[in-house]
Amino acid sequence: MGNIITIDLRHETGNFWMNNGLVTLYCEFGEGNYDSDYILEKLTEKIVQKTGNKGKYFDKKKEELVEYEKVNWKYPTNQFIKVSGKAGTKVKIDGEEYSTQPPIFDLKLKLSKRHGICNLCGIEAPLTDAKMWMFPFMVEPSKFGNFYSGSKRGFKLCARCALAGLAGYIGWLWKAQGKVLHFFVFHSDLSTMERLHREVFLPLRAEGEKGGNTPRLPFWGSYIHETTLGLLLSLFSYISNPKDIPEETSKCLASLFRVGSVPSSLPSFITLYAVTGIMGQAFSMKSVKEITKLHSLYKLYEKWVNEFERRELDNPPRQIALVLRQFMSRQGNKDETLWRDKVARAILDFADPFPIMETFIFDVRAKEKPPKPLVMGTLDMFNIYLKEVLNMDEKFQRILAGFGYTLGRAAKEDGEMGLLYALRNAKKPEEFYRVLNDAQFRLEMTIPEALLRIEKGERIFGVPWVRVKTLLAIYAMNSYLREYARKDKDSATLEKEE
Ligand SMILES: [Zn+2]
Repeated sequence: MGNIITIDLRHETGNFWMNNGLVTLYCEFGEGNYDSDYILEKLTEKIVQKTGNKGKYFDKKKEELVEYEKVNWKYPTNQFIKVSGKAGTKVKIDGEEYSTQPPIFDLKLKLSKRHGICNLCGIEAPLTDAKMWMFPFMVEPSKFGNFYSGSKRGFKLCARCALAGLAGYIGWLWKAQGKVLHFFVFHSDLSTMERLHREVFLPLRAEGEKGGNTPRLPFWGSYIHETTLGLLLSLFSYISNPKDIPEETSKCLASLFRVGSVPSSLPSFITLYAVTGIMGQAFSMKSVKEITKLHSLYKLYEKWVNEFERRELDNPPRQIALVLRQFMSRQGNKDETLWRDKVARAILDFADPFPIMETFIFDVRAKEKPPKPLVMGTLDMFNIYLKEVLNMDEKFQRILAGFGYTLGRAAKEDGEMGLLYALRNAKKPEEFYRVLNDAQFRLEMTIPEALLRIEKGERIFGVPWVRVKTLLAIYAMNSYLREYARKDKDSATLEKEE
């Protein structure tokens, strides 16, 4: 007999991993009092799986070798559960060593006889020393900046917390890319989390996949922000495009992310924790990201959907994903997605993604063979971002976009790509104006008056001059590349016709 533990939704711990585990216990077993050994046995069954390989052991009763199917901890929990199967005593037959039973995969809580205070939930109960299989953040301080170092006497858990920790590996969402493992936990009050598990993750989760169990992602990669944004876009898309999923799933997502959809109830505060690390002998954690502004992110997403609907584009969620997916480059035979990660990071943090976009269009897109403009809808989406997130005046934005467009076209016609690079490289307002002056003479263009007034603090129309420069460079280069692609297409059609 182990300890008697209570499973319910009333004992949250304040820790997202443990709360995720408590909700998983509730979903798997239901509310009630249980023997901790019974729960441990049932959980273990769920995270042990057949490897597909066969082994042999020596059956002492039959006095012969018997074949058995090998098992191991399920991937990728095997990164955290470093307990090997117990093979029992060994015998030697014909010079080969065999065990006398198939290895038994079990875990032990080893609870203390004396009561103490649980480090996570604070109850007084028999305790156990926390290990990585109970809590993935039990890592050596040298390996990860002390996420949960515990104290000198170690980290002590009660039976319920230890079991919740283990159950977390059943209730999590994870995605693997090569040796990189990302995992995700949405954190809120326990009843909201339970609803999310039951109505969203159970129907949408992909089980038995080698690459992960998240719902289908429009893109992912080796980095945490791009993969997190991919996950959010996937969940958001089920709100605006609820076909092929249960009605309850879409309703649950809408009530979680869409503020104001249910006027009578306040939206639950919800946070997404994204963790990333490298798999090897054991999981080596690299970073933990906390994303709190999910309601605002959904609001932004909704504005993008509305814009594409207004323009009668087919399947707005797909178009949004295509736009954000594009920020990568082909390097050798592998896609480098660092650009996408940086753009995603800026969006998740409501920061400025334009300097990265500027580098991307000049250093990646313009140098591709053949050079390609940004995906259709990119500028529309980012113009909305400018207005909603960076509070840019819409009229001034349109002036910039219009001028950039003309500048790019003229530069293409006159073979003046160097001018665009000079614009991009301007480091001071004087350099910026010198380039504009050059454009005025060499391309015979008129500079919009709004651009000519530099104010206190080196601002143009209330915007830091460098952002004005960056935006203008993006608009102009994109227009240049669009023109290039159009001409390229025209000459290809001409050749075909001839
Ligand atoms: Zn506890």
